[in-house]
Amino acid sequence: MLGSYLAAIMLCWLGWERFDQQKVVAWMAVLSLSTALRTAMFITYLRAPASQRTAERWEWRYWATLVLSAATWGLGALAVMPADDLLGQTLIMLFAVGMSVSAVSCYSSYRNMTVVSIALVLLPCTGWLVVQPSALQQGIALAVLVFASFVVNATQSLSSALLTAWRLKHEMEHAHRLAMVASCTDELTGLNNRRAFFDSASVQHARCREGCTFVAVLMLDVDHFKQINDTAGHAAGDQVLQRIGAVISASLRDDDIAGRLGGEEFAILLPDTPLHTATEIAERLRALIAKLNVNVEHPVTASIGLAFATAPTSELGALLSSADKAMYHAKASGRNRVMVVDQMHAAV
Ligand code: GH3
Ligand code: MG
Ligand code: MG
Repeated sequence: MLGSYLAAIMLCWLGWERFDQQKVVAWMAVLSLSTALRTAMFITYLRAPASQRTAERWEWRYWATLVLSAATWGLGALAVMPADDLLGQTLIMLFAVGMSVSAVSCYSSYRNMTVVSIALVLLPCTGWLVVQPSALQQGIALAVLVFASFVVNATQSLSSALLTAWRLKHEMEHAHRLAMVASCTDELTGLNNRRAFFDSASVQHARCREGCTFVAVLMLDVDHFKQINDTAGHAAGDQVLQRIGAVISASLRDDDIAGRLGGEEFAILLPDTPLHTATEIAERLRALIAKLNVNVEHPVTASIGLAFATAPTSELGALLSSADKAMYHAKASGRNRVMVVDQMHAAV
């Protein structure tokens, strides 16, 4: 955009003595306006929020300012074309051909834009030369048209190669994003898998140690899950795990981290959560699981161990192992219950 503006200034400077100076000034004024309009369009685009930078919203503005600038260039060059000065005419054609070649580098992947801007810049002057009486002028026009046809032809393969490269890049990025999500997600429940749980819980726990007051960890294990599998089948067992995953997901707050550690065992980290709130959450989860309406004969219940500590003094590994012990304590005490280890007061 600025290049085309500078090219016009340079052309007018070189041809100042040869061109009609009033027309040169008028051309520069209109070109300055169209360049300012195009610059304003770019600045507005760059300032717009990412969500509003859509092709539907911006493409027509881009087209409109492009057509305006290119037409101003082509028609302005025609207006200043000196009728009886071959050197001046050749100078203008040299710049016009240079401008059209630079359009290829600017809009290379948008073939229509390249072709339209080449046509708008080149055709007015070339058309004028064709109808001039001198064979030399017609020869220049012919040569320009031949060169332009080569350029237009080259844009075809260039734009299709670029579009293919961009499409492949986009597809690869999409595939990479999917692979990243898949590598962190437990396929059955949609919760974090074991590795992702430990990664996210470590980050959240480290944040807790700096800013939070309390931290709680829940370990949840489905009761007599083997019997559910044995009586209702593995597929029904899978469905139970999915429903429990959904109950856990629905109960989470934004900063909570939950994951399926393996088999029928789940873990949840509750940052900045006082003991009574963590106990309420655990009890609510236990009650919701016990109320699950699943098509299996055996009752679906879970035992939950809850470890609670002040965040700055706690270690994630120690909290998880305390919660695990509390969970086994809940199993030993009859299952379908929550057992709490309060590391702050060292009590069970
Ligand atoms: P407890 O109350 O003591 O925890 O008994 P349990 O039967 O739940 O525990 P146990 O460890 O004996 O059995 C767990 C079962 O979970 C055994 C295994 O076949 C089953 N299991 C592990 N992963 C999956 C899974 O992805 N889908 C299904 N359907 N079953 C699974
Ligand atoms: Mg179990
Ligand atoms: Mg288990």
